Amino acid sequence: MAKYCGADCRICRREGCKLFLKGERCTSSKCPFDKKNAATIPGQHGANQKRRPRLSGYGLQLREKQKVKKAYGLLEKQFKKYYIEAERQKGVTGETMLSLIERRLDNVVYRMGIGVSRAESRQIVNHGHILVNGKNVNIPSYSVKKGDVIAIKENSKELEMFKQLKGAKIVTPKWVEFDTESLTGKIIDLPQRDDIDMAIQEHLIIELYSR
Ligand code: SF4
Repeated sequence: MAKYCGADCRICRREGCKLFLKGERCTSSKCPFDKKNAATIPGQHGANQKRRPRLSGYGLQLREKQKVKKAYGLLEKQFKKYYIEAERQKGVTGETMLSLIERRLDNVVYRMGIGVSRAESRQIVNHGHILVNGKNVNIPSYSVKKGDVIAIKENSKELEMFKQLKGAKIVTPKWVEFDTESLTGKIIDLPQRDDIDMAIQEHLIIELYSR
């Protein structure tokens, strides 16, 4: 699978907003995005610009799509699949698309606070540390359903990264819950548009794909 190997913070600078790709660093004073001049476009020419250039309609749509893709760590092909699936379903396509993306198992592991970032959460799933309804699931794109029980595998609970979760205070969105004693979580409801805290103008993405 194609993989971006550059600096994560550069992606935030490119998209002009914090995408929270590096876990704790993103909420600390070490986040370079908060520093002076750090929010300029990366690269030789971008750094010389005092302001971001005005984007065309297409440019705005493209940047919005890239922002969501990068935040969730998706490739173009994977991302487009969510759009196609959302278009097939009833409801507002943009909102359905975001809800489908939010239901990915790697994102759920991140939302439950098991992984500090979506990238780490994806690795946790890939390495087979997660059970869904008692069964081992190592597919990051697995789509969770209402009522699913997500747990850390018994053998994995002894790993230092999971031991640290015991008794920790984790704030989860209202559609999931996670018990830090039993290291088990549950999908209380499917995510709605309001549950996604990132500033996304999903209608721009839909317009881009509808061209
Ligand atoms: Fe880097 Fe800040 Fe973006 Fe996190 S939010 S990836 S620390 S620029």
